Amino acid sequence: MSDKIHAETTKVVVVGAGQAGFSVCAKLRSIGFKGQITLIGDEDHPPYQRPPLSKAYLTGDMALERLFFRPQSFYADENIELCLSDPVLSIDRFKKQIIRAEKPPLPYDKLVLATGSQPITLPDDMGGDLMGVHYVRTLKDTDTMRADVQPGKTALVIGGGYIGLEAAAVATKAGMKVVLVEAADRILQRVASPETARYFRSLHKAKGVDIREGVRLKALKGQKGRVTSAIMADGSEITTDCAIVGIGIRPNHDLAKAAGLKLDNGICVDAQCRTSDPDIFAVGDCASFQHGTARLRLESVGNAIDQGEIAARIIAGEKVSYQANPWFWSDQYDTKLQIMGLSTGYDCIVTRDSGEGVISFWYFAKDRLLAVDAINDPRAFMVAKRLIESEKSPDPALVSDPSLDLKQVLR
Ligand SMILES: Cc1cc2nc3c(=O)[nH]c(=O)nc-3n(C[C@H](O)[C@H](O)[C@H](O)COP(=O)(O)OP(=O)(O)OC[C@H]3O[C@@H](n4cnc5c(N)ncnc54)[C@H](O)[C@@H]3O)c2cc1C
Repeated sequence: MSDKIHAETTKVVVVGAGQAGFSVCAKLRSIGFKGQITLIGDEDHPPYQRPPLSKAYLTGDMALERLFFRPQSFYADENIELCLSDPVLSIDRFKKQIIRAEKPPLPYDKLVLATGSQPITLPDDMGGDLMGVHYVRTLKDTDTMRADVQPGKTALVIGGGYIGLEAAAVATKAGMKVVLVEAADRILQRVASPETARYFRSLHKAKGVDIREGVRLKALKGQKGRVTSAIMADGSEITTDCAIVGIGIRPNHDLAKAAGLKLDNGICVDAQCRTSDPDIFAVGDCASFQHGTARLRLESVGNAIDQGEIAARIIAGEKVSYQANPWFWSDQYDTKLQIMGLSTGYDCIVTRDSGEGVISFWYFAKDRLLAVDAINDPRAFMVAKRLIESEKSPDPALVSDPSLDLKQVLR
């Protein structure tokens, strides 16, 4: 670590007190960075995990305190100035300071943008402003939605991605009648193979969810300002007590855009998580990086942690590079999906079916293992992780044999 960056006067400002912002600050302190750290968030809670918002926290199986990465005392103990309910309005790159609504400008030596993403919303003229229309991004969203998750009522879930499917599972478990509509030909179109989608379609149908694919929402209708039904493009009408919308997210890149930083599917960063301004970094959902021939933006916890840690180590003077190591999970009912790698570009899928809902799909391109979707199969996930991280590919015939101990493919 260089003396300059070791100096107690060095100022690091992190905008966005979510998964990635927390990762930057925690890593900086854990590697001995002695400078000033200010972590600024526009929400009114200390940094917390989002995945339980559509899973255990929504069902009520997880207490609020367990959502927080650390108790509030951690920030004082680690000399991290945590500013909550404090939206950053703009960046003055020439004076190297950030502008907030009710506080004086805050100077920085290094600035990290960890501003995350936000749900794509339904416009007001489609009924997006009706009461009972919910999104699942923040703690506040979930706390508000919980009042509408009531046994005997109907929930319309709009969007068959992971958020929509997880919300459908929670609502079903709570005793609601659930209708899920997806505009694309199938659920999980953007994020999973037809095989994985088929598994989850069957699972939800078996639990009683009415899944309608290839149907587009025309508008939500309401009475006395509250949603009561959905009119679909095919003319059908679905009566409902509430609507849960999960139709995708978009990166929060407005600060970066206004500051003239380069954008392409998010804030462009290099392998050191640096933006087009060498003193400004971007990490997590808001950042896009070169991956092969495309610019990729990963919306996952693993990526937010990894990029946050790389930015911290670069700021502290280390010579490291970010290597995308995509992994993800989703919990629906008692089923756990764990995904390792990216299946984009696969030319062959090998299925390993061990029965009783334990199944994994292995994606290959020219015999090279790209990714594995492991359903209720933590061992397949662990083996896939080790193989993909060490760039090894197993013999597909061995993988497909459920009687074979998977550890053998690691040899
Ligand atoms: C319901 C839900 C379930 C999920 N489930 C999974 C899962 O199972 N597995 C998985 O890997 N990933 C999951 N994810 C995704 C994962 O949570 C995100 O990828 C991760 O939180 C991204 O971290 P981030 O720090 O980039 O963004 P965030 O955690 O969104 O944090 C960004 C923060 O910056 C704040 N901010 C934005 N602009 C400003 C500003 N101008 N000033 C101040 N603050 C600002 C935002 O309000 C927010 O608090 C889930 C996400 C959601 C919403």
